[in-house]
Amino acid sequence: MTDCLFCKIIAGDLPSDMVYRGDRVVAFRDINPVAPTHILVVPVDHHPDVVHLAAKDEPLLTELVTVAGELAKAEAGGQFRLMFNTGAEAGQTVFHVHAHVLAGHPMGFPG
Ligand code: 5GP
Repeated sequence: MTDCLFCKIIAGDLPSDMVYRGDRVVAFRDINPVAPTHILVVPVDHHPDVVHLAAKDEPLLTELVTVAGELAKAEAGGQFRLMFNTGAEAGQTVFHVHAHVLAGHPMGFPG
């Protein structure tokens, strides 16, 4: 999508701190981290949110979760929070599905 921030990052048209690049999934550090590890795991294909992704390409959703787990294991021993904000009311601001991988300090719920 031409007007999508994360499509532009994936294409290399905007800079990012990329930590993983696969054929179908990429991961880069959040520009405004809220935990010692805060990585966004993002499919290359544009899907607006996780429900859409699950309906259209379940294997890609599985791959995305697998990559999230591998990155969390490498960076923080494998204990992490995986978060998909879905819809503006839930805090979604970028409508290209992304999993927040949060790790590296004790967390309560919520927050
Ligand atoms: P959402 O609110 O949609 O769940 O998450 C969007 C995330 O993208 C936010 O945590 C925000 O900090 C991050 N973000 C917004 N713009 C950029 C950017 O240009 N680069 C990177 N790396 N992260 C961004």
